[in-house]
Amino acid sequence: MSEEKKVEFKHATYEIVAPGVAKIMQARPEARNAQNAQLTYDLNDCFDLAAQDEKVKVVLLGGEGPHFSSGHDLRGFGPPFPQRDFKLVNTWGMVREGGVHSRYSFEQEVFMGMCQRWRDMPKPTIAMVQGKCIAGGLMLAWVCDIIIASDDATFVDPVVAMGVLGVEYFNHPYELGIRKAKEHLFTGDWWDAEEAHRLGMVNQVVKRDNLEDFSLEMAKKIAERPMFALKMAKKAVNIAQDNMGHRATQETSLALHHMCHAHNAEVEMMAVRQEGMPEKFRKPKEAAE
Ligand code: ZN
Repeated sequence: MSEEKKVEFKHATYEIVAPGVAKIMQARPEARNAQNAQLTYDLNDCFDLAAQDEKVKVVLLGGEGPHFSSGHDLRGFGPPFPQRDFKLVNTWGMVREGGVHSRYSFEQEVFMGMCQRWRDMPKPTIAMVQGKCIAGGLMLAWVCDIIIASDDATFVDPVVAMGVLGVEYFNHPYELGIRKAKEHLFTGDWWDAEEAHRLGMVNQVVKRDNLEDFSLEMAKKIAERPMFALKMAKKAVNIAQDNMGHRATQETSLALHHMCHAHNAEVEMMAVRQEGMPEKFRKPKEAAE
């Protein structure tokens, strides 16, 4: 593709910002970059553009507006699941049957499949995180190789309060360490950029107005290295994480995650616990009974 052209999808943009450096932006700031299916598939198209362009060596990933991500769009991911409106990019097909079969297939395609796909993209990726990074937003930052946070960034996985063990891409133990992963999940506390940096989840913390420049400078430095060696370095580190049980953990945790969804569906009549949801997403009491 041409080097200067900005490609605009509905909820994401793709742009070459320096020789060898592509920038992908979530572009749904009015919804704090809430991840609906459209945004997810748009991001996937952007990653594919970066993967296919031989001149691109490093990918920056950010979010427009005051916050990196408010997480999954809680309005957009109930049945009927929207993946049927998109061309699938993984092998879990659309299932109309309903129940666990439909929900599990959907989350394998849109959450787990996408995250593993982006995590395994062989080119170095750098997340630029500002403001709030909530639940599904963690998944998006975590699949990147490097995370640069602005000093106002805060992180949270509040999903246990919703009656589910945590977000679908369950990388907490690898990002935070065993004990702090448990604390983060059990308490649902917000952690700031300094704490995330101290735990090794974040590579660097910079001033908010320096976030993009700092990230771009790092990307340019990486882009000076030979592409194949970069790919092999990334693959070797990812294999090391795989050897620590990364993939088995993801699959097992997703099965437990769906046990939680199924439990909630039986006792709450929806896949998450009503009490743990923000008020505007709760069903009226009579509808839930
Ligand atoms: Zn789920």
